[in-house]
Amino acid sequence: MNVELISVGTEILLGDIVNTNTAYLSKQLANLGINVYKQTTVGDNHERLLQALDTAFKTADTIIITGGLGPTDDDISRDVAAAYFGYQMIYHEEIWQQIITYLTHNRKGAYVSENNRKQAYVPEHSYILTNQQGTAPGLIIEKENQRIILLPGPPSEMKAMFETSVIPYLRKYSDKQFVSAYIRFFGIGESALEMKIKSILDSQTNPTLALYAKTGEVLLRVTASGDNEAQCREKIQPVIEQLQNEVGEYIYLIGDERVAETQTEMHRVVAQMLLENNLTISVAESLTGGLITSSLVEQSGISQVLYEGLVCYSNQSKIETLGVNPDTIAKYGAVSEQTAREMVVGVAKRLNSDVAIATTGIAGPTSDGTNKPVGLVYIATYVKGAVNVEVYHLFGTRTLISERASKTALNQLRLHILAQNQQK
Ligand code: ATP
Ligand code: MG
Repeated sequence: MNVELISVGTEILLGDIVNTNTAYLSKQLANLGINVYKQTTVGDNHERLLQALDTAFKTADTIIITGGLGPTDDDISRDVAAAYFGYQMIYHEEIWQQIITYLTHNRKGAYVSENNRKQAYVPEHSYILTNQQGTAPGLIIEKENQRIILLPGPPSEMKAMFETSVIPYLRKYSDKQFVSAYIRFFGIGESALEMKIKSILDSQTNPTLALYAKTGEVLLRVTASGDNEAQCREKIQPVIEQLQNEVGEYIYLIGDERVAETQTEMHRVVAQMLLENNLTISVAESLTGGLITSSLVEQSGISQVLYEGLVCYSNQSKIETLGVNPDTIAKYGAVSEQTAREMVVGVAKRLNSDVAIATTGIAGPTSDGTNKPVGLVYIATYVKGAVNVEVYHLFGTRTLISERASKTALNQLRLHILAQNQQK
């Protein structure tokens, strides 16, 4: 099976919305082992969509269209697909009843506008895919060896329909299965990592490996193909072990697709670590301005362990809130190893938490009036009485430096806790 994806919508061509549907579908189809030959975007225009179908079927046998299934006049996908195969539109009373139920469900006195009825017309010879999240049903229309799959534009409706109805339909066209593992690295750049694991990268054909740069970290995808899931996993496992042996110190997470989309998973990994080890935490943030705390707060259940997150930006706050000695700041400066150390001890002692983080540094773009360079950051971590202060020289804009500092701080705490656990 060879697929072409067609996104319908003038707002995509104008740049008003980003075409996330195509990215999602391409990825899903790759996982199913189905080739995507081309991705096309067309405006809400009958003639041009018809042309696009004609061109697509020159190389593909299956076309997936997203968008343009709604009730308004500019929603043309259903009509064009039927016209392409020369099929009549047939009215389905049961679809109309489903639309009414969907629109009036839990909404007293809801008014169902007559133009919705358009969605109850379906080309002959088509399978109807129920839409659990909206009104427009999806469709699979077949003629001889060709098929057009029509999915709604709104991503949540499209994904739900793809996963529940389209994947089972497509499975029978794919003889292989693909499974991917995702490995997240912190503290090493993409090119440095590539150099270190070059022999592993070069020697693999199944599984295949691909590196992706994320902000401040690297993601590695390991994809195996096989007859079934177990066989794929068997192929992935030795590669993961080899990576752990060679660059294990930089690996902070190994998982499936769910850990692959985001720029970082560091905060989730640390939050989970705190919860699992039942370690209470306090945070004192200067240059990170609350980023560390707000990222931890993304984890539900964190209230069990997060005592407080303080933004102690001024010297006065460091002195009065955290008990930093004014002489320390006078002698070494606010951005110094000594101040970071006193900050972390101060914040840990306030509520007597098990662990703590403190950050102080120069985010730029200008220095702090001393001769210390932009990007100089001190991060102190505290784990049950033991203090560790590290110095970093981070680069980038003001925003990037504080973001990098916050992830680096979380990673430092993670490593500190691991080291303490090992000593026990
Ligand atoms: P509706 O019933 O809402 O009109 P529809 O199936 O007709 O749905 P469109 O009108 O094409 O779909 O798009 C509706 C909305 O769905 C768009 O405004 C946009 O927010 C989102 N959308 C459409 N296509 C895409 C896409 N390719 N990627 C991301 N979002 C999309
Ligand atoms: Mg629409």
